[in-house]
Amino acid sequence: KPVVAIVGRPNVGKSTIFNRIVGERISIVEDIPGITRDRIYSSAEWLTHDFNIIDTGGIEIGDEPFLEQIRQQAEIAIDEADVIIFMTNGREGVTSADEQVAKILFRSSKPIVLAVNKVDNPDMKNQIYDFYSLGFGEPYPISGSHGLGLGEMLDAVTKSFKPQDEVKYGDEVIKFSLIGRPNVGKSSLVNALLGEDRVIVSDIAGTTRDAIDSPYKYDSQEYVIIDTAGMRKKGKVYETTEKYSVLRALRAIERSDVVLVVIDAEEGIIDQDKKIAGYAHDAGRAVIMVVNKWDAVDKDDKTMDRFEKKLRDHFQFLDYAPVVFLSALTKKRIHTLLPVINMASENHSMRVQSSVLNEVVMDAVAMNPTPTDHGKRLKIFYATQVAVKPPTFVIFVNEPELMHFSYERFLENRIREAFGFEGTPIRLIARARK
Ligand code: GDP
Repeated sequence: KPVVAIVGRPNVGKSTIFNRIVGERISIVEDIPGITRDRIYSSAEWLTHDFNIIDTGGIEIGDEPFLEQIRQQAEIAIDEADVIIFMTNGREGVTSADEQVAKILFRSSKPIVLAVNKVDNPDMKNQIYDFYSLGFGEPYPISGSHGLGLGEMLDAVTKSFKPQDEVKYGDEVIKFSLIGRPNVGKSSLVNALLGEDRVIVSDIAGTTRDAIDSPYKYDSQEYVIIDTAGMRKKGKVYETTEKYSVLRALRAIERSDVVLVVIDAEEGIIDQDKKIAGYAHDAGRAVIMVVNKWDAVDKDDKTMDRFEKKLRDHFQFLDYAPVVFLSALTKKRIHTLLPVINMASENHSMRVQSSVLNEVVMDAVAMNPTPTDHGKRLKIFYATQVAVKPPTFVIFVNEPELMHFSYERFLENRIREAFGFEGTPIRLIARARK
């Protein structure tokens, strides 16, 4: 999917426009239990076009002075986006900060659509001509607060989309990514995985695109490490800002089946780890927790259990995720990782038999009666698996409102125990039988 980034100095209305473009999307995403997303990145659509959109204004860059912040936000847009919306404010006219942003954007070869916001009524339209001086051609007058002009602007944006040679890997290929904050050892781990004995294959269809991914084969199983390039590319100042690493993580998660949440054993668990892991969970990907730098920890025979217990406490929503301890540096226990990836991937796409599923559900109901509300009892008629990646089950009931969270959780656990869905989230949806 093409990526669109909004840039511009503060207060021109970037997040208003972002929310307008994203529309209902965000609230749909928030229906999924888990950790809510930052409002800086979302999928969106306009007419027949699907794309992702970034509000770079939401990426705060430390305590840098104001101009440095917008400069770095513009650099991020250039790095990450296929098309850039350069937003200005029609009420204030062209400011020197706008000119600074323009200067940076000029150096990029990405298509740029110049938007003049806060043009709330037609009389103001002749104020936009000044903006030609920024050098990006026709300015598009818009009004975020009144929702005017967005259609024309989005037409210009989507017209600039180049045909995407979107990389499509076969279903038999396991796509995984490594996410985690900077310096936990993601690129070291990739290098260790791609070490001498792995055959790096370049003939999997569609691997040419900027070579951002690393396809390889081991024991006749094909894998693709998603966004290897993003992990290796280092040295930009903003690499260490939290929102930026979250953004990168989101983009990698989107294209993965299995997500390895890499945690630094030396540093312990911090909030950012939890947040990043939350995205993988929300997105319904298989998740493995990888504790790296295990070589650097003083240990006795209980250290591993203690660390795992701490992890489990922090990541209760990931109770299905296996934990792997290893060292990318010494390569110790590296060989334990691939079998776990294989297992998680298999479970992520597992299909169960309807007859067995219904036996499991009915047994569960017999064991633990369904909840009642105001004298009305939940009735379960039938369960069926409607999707994989992640396994998703629809449970037909008399009234979906009667399905309490705790009962759903109970059913989920019974289904897990019966089929062994280690490594993957599963979803239950209660529907009224028609
Ligand atoms: P990334 O930012 O997550 O890609 O992290 P890097 O792979 O660049 O690693 C960050 C630092 O941690 C580097 O100095 C690595 O040498 C070091 N490092 C990576 N893996 C290990 C490990 O298993 N053990 C130890 N002791 N250091 C490691």
